[in-house]
Amino acid sequence: MNTYQNYDTIVIGGGPGGSTVATLVAEQGYRVLLLERESEPTFKIGESLIPATYWTFKRLGMLEKLRTSHFPQKYSVQFYSRSGKGSAPFYFFQTNPHESAVTWQVLRSEFDQMLLDNAKEKGVEVRRGVGVREVLLDGDTATGVLTQNADGTRETLNATVIVDSTGQRSLIGRQLNLNTIEPNLKMASLFTHYEGGHRDEGIDEGATLILHTEEKDSWFWSIPLPYNRTSIGVVGELDYLLQNRRDADGKLDTQKIFNEELMKCAPLKQRLEGAKQLFPIQTTKDFSYRASRIAGNNWVLVGDAFGFLDPVYSTGLFLALKSGEMAADVILEAFRKDDFSEAQLGSFGPAFVDGMEAFRKLVYAFYTKEFSFARFLSEYPEHQGGIVDILSGDVFRKDVTHIFPDMAEMCPLPPEMPIG
Ligand SMILES: Cc1cc2nc3c(=O)[nH]c(=O)nc-3n(C[C@H](O)[C@H](O)[C@H](O)COP(=O)(O)OP(=O)(O)OC[C@H]3O[C@@H](n4cnc5c(N)ncnc54)[C@H](O)[C@@H]3O)c2cc1C
Repeated sequence: MNTYQNYDTIVIGGGPGGSTVATLVAEQGYRVLLLERESEPTFKIGESLIPATYWTFKRLGMLEKLRTSHFPQKYSVQFYSRSGKGSAPFYFFQTNPHESAVTWQVLRSEFDQMLLDNAKEKGVEVRRGVGVREVLLDGDTATGVLTQNADGTRETLNATVIVDSTGQRSLIGRQLNLNTIEPNLKMASLFTHYEGGHRDEGIDEGATLILHTEEKDSWFWSIPLPYNRTSIGVVGELDYLLQNRRDADGKLDTQKIFNEELMKCAPLKQRLEGAKQLFPIQTTKDFSYRASRIAGNNWVLVGDAFGFLDPVYSTGLFLALKSGEMAADVILEAFRKDDFSEAQLGSFGPAFVDGMEAFRKLVYAFYTKEFSFARFLSEYPEHQGGIVDILSGDVFRKDVTHIFPDMAEMCPLPPEMPIG
């Protein structure tokens, strides 16, 4: 049993989830150390925000920094069907006549660094170039971390609370074998950035576009970024996009696959005419999973370290920020009560998972071939507002569950995944 703690809280990982929890705990006067393994800001995927992030940015004191940034403003998301026809854009201000209805498209290297700088300003000790090899556990109780520093040295650091915000690395999830891949969302993605290409005008210039390919076997995102760049990625089932596309030698030509999918998406192909691809295709797969627990004694999971759904509605950053905020609240309460049990630190879990489940149902609807939002809304026009609320991320502030009984008439919705 340690009688001296080096820190009140150690946060592992300096992505949006880690920066959020660290900032909000440090701001209340606690000693917080954040360890980020990368020495420099790096490229990351996940570039489109949704409006509900506004409220976490407000608490973090980030709104002015974002307003004065060069990140394109996002007012809407627009869907293109397999026939190449675009839906009317879903403007977030349709259900929310407030400045929070406008959000941003971000370059992650810059955005993550802005959040880390803000954390430092609020009192967090940020160390870059320090990876955590292992969370030290005494049974199920976290006591500290074993670090691997850039110069190869290792260090043991103790803290009362350890936050795992290592993203898909999911340090504690792997150590305790907590993670389950979503059985029906075995997906893969290929992505890159382009320079140039067509953009719509006015408030549509910063819109996210979600475009199905001809047979609806895959879909593309198009996300406008600063420096006249656009992030373009394709998502499809792992077997379809990668496993079944190997050549006779078993090799994968991801550029060829990307080009083949683009050929099946006429509206996007047209928009990218004359644009220049900026770097080779990158690949990721098996990204939809969830941990069976969100906390234990003296430890908490935040953001992707707990789980990730799917890129389609750009919910990842929001859920990382929101879980960072909720985790900070239960940690601050734990210090006040001197109770660092799983029951206390995991007390935000049920509400957080309820919000996540609303997105998850909409993700399953999206991947049901026979389902389309256009058809759903023509049959149930009263649900237009509910859909916009979910696309805006308003799943914690409003009850959006009323749309699901009708949606279940048109597509199978998944049973909820409980947490322990
Ligand atoms: C294909 C794809 C497209 C996506 N598109 C979107 C999108 O458009 N919009 C959206 O909102 N979300 C999107 N996402 C999801 C989004 O990227 C993540 O949900 C988000 O980055 C999660 O934030 P986080 O802070 O939990 O983790 P991360 O942003 O992954 O941050 C984790 C940090 O921990 C550090 N780290 C890892 N291991 C260690 C260690 N052992 N020691 C120290 N540091 C460590 C990493 O270097 C990293 O900086 C997408 C995801 C995928 C797979």
